[in-house]
Parts: sequence; structure tokens; C-alpha cells
Amino acid sequence: MKSFRVICLLLCFAGTAMYAQTSSQINSRINTLYHFYADRGDYLISTIRPKFRAVLSAPDQRLEESIRYDTIITGNTNAFATREGTTIVTASMLQIIDSVATMLAASQTFSAPQCLSSYLNYLTESTNENSRLAARSLPPQPVLMAFSFWAARPDVCSGLTEAKFRNSTAADNLRELMIYSSIIYIIGHEFAHHKYGDTQYHMVTDDRYKRELEAGRDVTTFVTPTQQRTKEARADSFAFQKMIEMDFTPIGALPVLLFFSGIEGFSPELTSNADHPAAICRFEEMIEYTDRDPEFKTTINKLHKEPEWQAFEAQLRNVIRNP
Ligand SMILES: [Zn+2]
Repeated sequence: MKSFRVICLLLCFAGTAMYAQTSSQINSRINTLYHFYADRGDYLISTIRPKFRAVLSAPDQRLEESIRYDTIITGNTNAFATREGTTIVTASMLQIIDSVATMLAASQTFSAPQCLSSYLNYLTESTNENSRLAARSLPPQPVLMAFSFWAARPDVCSGLTEAKFRNSTAADNLRELMIYSSIIYIIGHEFAHHKYGDTQYHMVTDDRYKRELEAGRDVTTFVTPTQQRTKEARADSFAFQKMIEMDFTPIGALPVLLFFSGIEGFSPELTSNADHPAAICRFEEMIEYTDRDPEFKTTINKLHKEPEWQAFEAQLRNVIRNP
């Protein structure tokens, strides 16, 4: 975890200096950072896996042991479960988690909500653009991380500095907790997709699904947007339940949840599919599904975690009301 602190220091300089450099220097620098994040991701995932496995049933433990994890170097920000049994997390995703966790910790500790919301808007636009570039095999553009954003946007982030952040143990601890929690959430969410076989599918419209069904054809690998939303909500519910069993509150995953709330079809599996619901609906579905999930309810009752879950819900609803 400490190395995230070091990389943030590097990013501060990287972000401000990047514009004066040639594009090949920029690309090489971004690539170096991605490699760093991929290495850190590998390390964090390998420390979390045994703890995650400890809260799984015996069959789920065997499945978890069979999963391969791969942190890949790309400007495309996402995480996903492949049908070959691998969970992939991109370096860009790990970098964004670090930066949003920094911004959230600063916003919470020094009361800077305007800076936080401006940054989330900026980040959503920039990373969407980088995902588009990655899809066309073009190099990514530099994206300001938290400290550089504070320096670049004194109009909304006045008073926030890297030095101030580093002098606050509370802010730093909160950031590290959120980075760790976000990765637990991703591991749990993707594990659920492996567990329920959500990785084998072909997205079709409701009409096509109905036609295929009526024609008596095999529809087991077809999924409609509505069915996919339910699968995403089920994966979230599973991840939250496991976080709680590991003694981590789901609110700790806010860096991932908030970042993706800015993207249509919010999910770690970033998609531009227009059939997906708006991010706000996605949040609502995530909460409602989890609230109805009997296994989740049993877990939080057993562990006496209802107040924490209610606080999490209240915070998410606040985000929904003030996106
Ligand atoms: Zn998913």
C-alpha cells in the first residue's frame, strides 16, 4: 500500500510536466506508470485472494483457486471475467482507483465536494476518450491524477495541496482503505460472474430473444439487456456480502462505484452499449437487488452490520440525488 503513496508523488510531477514533453516521451511515461500499477495490482490481488477465499463456501473456494488473474497494460479502464476463467484488471483501472480514492479522502477530510464532483466529470470524459483510443489501437492521452488536478484547478480545489494531504494521517489512511476495498469489490464482482456462468453470453434484444425462444432454438447463451442488469446487480450483491464478511464496509468501494456512476451502464465491465441503463438506474438497481437478496440479509444480520449497510445506502442515494 505504501507504494501507492510513492506513485502519487510521481504522478503529481508527471501530470504537470507532461504537456511540455513530446508525445513519445508522454507515451513512454504513461507506459511506465501503467507497468507500475499492474505490478501493484498483482501484489494487492495476491494479498487479498487468501482473505477472500476464507469467506467462500468449499465449492466456491475450489473455483477461486482455479481462477487466473491478469493485470494488463492498457488505457482502457475496466475489469472483466473471461469465459476462459481469467479475471482481468487493467492498469488504467488501478490508476483511476488510486486517484479517485485520493480525491474522496481529501474531499471527506478537508470538505471539498466541488473539487470532487469536478474531478469525477473530468475523469469520466478523459478515460472514456482513452478507452476509445485504446479501441482504435491508438496511444492514450495523459489524465491528471488527484494532486495535479488540485494544482490545475484552483477555482474548484482551492486550499487542497499534496503537502496538506500528506500531513494528514486520517486522509492517507482513508485513501489506502478505499484502494484496498475497491480491489476486494472488483475481485468479488468478477468472481460472481465466474460462479454464475455470466461470461458465456451473446447480447440480443428482447425481440430477438422472444423470436428465438418461440422458434424453439437454444437461448441459453443469449442475454437481453434486462437480464444482464440483473446479473450485474447479483454480482454486486455477492461482492458486497463478501466485503462485509471480510470486515470491509461496501462504502470503501466508492472509488470504483463513483467512477463508474459517470458511465452509461455502470459496471466494471465498461460498455458503450446504448441499451444499458443510465448510471443512476444502475445504482438504484444495485441497492434494490441487494436489499432483496436473502443471503445478503442473513449475512448482515448475523454480523450485526445493518447500520453500516444503511449508511452505505444513504450515501449512495445521496449520490443519486446529486450526481
Ligand atoms: Zn459485472
